[in-house]
Amino acid sequence: MKRHQVPHLSVKEVFKSQRVKLKKKSPDYLHVLPTLEAQESAYIEAGNHHELNTIKAIQKLSDDIGVKEMKDLYTSSFKGGSHNRDCILDSAQTRICLYCGRRDYSDLDHFLPKSIFAQFAITPANLIPVCHQCNVKKSTGIFAEQIVNPYFEDINRIPWLVCNMKIIDNRLSAQFMVDFRWPNRVIPSSEFEDKIRKHFSLFKLASDYGLWANEQISAYMPGWNAQIKGGNLEGLVANFKYEIRILGEKESNQNNYDKVFKEALVKMLEKPNFNEFWQSIDMNGYK
Ligand SMILES: [Zn+2]
Repeated sequence: MKRHQVPHLSVKEVFKSQRVKLKKKSPDYLHVLPTLEAQESAYIEAGNHHELNTIKAIQKLSDDIGVKEMKDLYTSSFKGGSHNRDCILDSAQTRICLYCGRRDYSDLDHFLPKSIFAQFAITPANLIPVCHQCNVKKSTGIFAEQIVNPYFEDINRIPWLVCNMKIIDNRLSAQFMVDFRWPNRVIPSSEFEDKIRKHFSLFKLASDYGLWANEQISAYMPGWNAQIKGGNLEGLVANFKYEIRILGEKESNQNNYDKVFKEALVKMLEKPNFNEFWQSIDMNGYK
């Protein structure tokens, strides 16, 4: 979930690639191109000022072109393997979903939904590479005020993702949450905080990251325990610190869930009462 460049592709280029096919079709879309271009400029301008939520929906672009026709145009313009689709995906500089930052992307999400904002159905700046799960979670409604736009908002300039290691039913459990007050005490504007909290909640990132982390714990627990019992606590800490550094360099994202998870493990291992904490875990549950 770091900031990405708005795709270089323009609505005019998308349109051009469809011209030959569209000529044989009715309606003739050409007369709505000036409107689509003006709307594209307005979209990017609003995005740069964090005002996408103020944009008005246009459902009828002309007498013969409305939501259905624009949806059809999107379907034919952004097919799997098409140049247009590849342009958007390639501009993401990553293969990972721009909403959850965890799974590979597979879909293009209309940030402002095409069923309401027909004027942005084929606008590249409105199309976000996301995983299928996130696309489904956002499938209905307008969320411009509630979710982070990866093209226009840099949400990783301050740390906000926190993981705590707890013992629940004698098992180690990782719990993720949004917390701006720890560890650096950088307090953002209330709108910024509110948006990140809503994004986190809409995409169910607490349970998403938590499930992943708890699978990691189940897989690695016997190995970690063997190292700790063998007197190599320091080596284990050093390993995690190394991985944190690598993840920090690779992702340049202080809210990367994997990095935050490993930071929580280090914090746990360096607790003054660590031995007591560790002994209360039932290791038989991990074999
Ligand atoms: Zn996702």
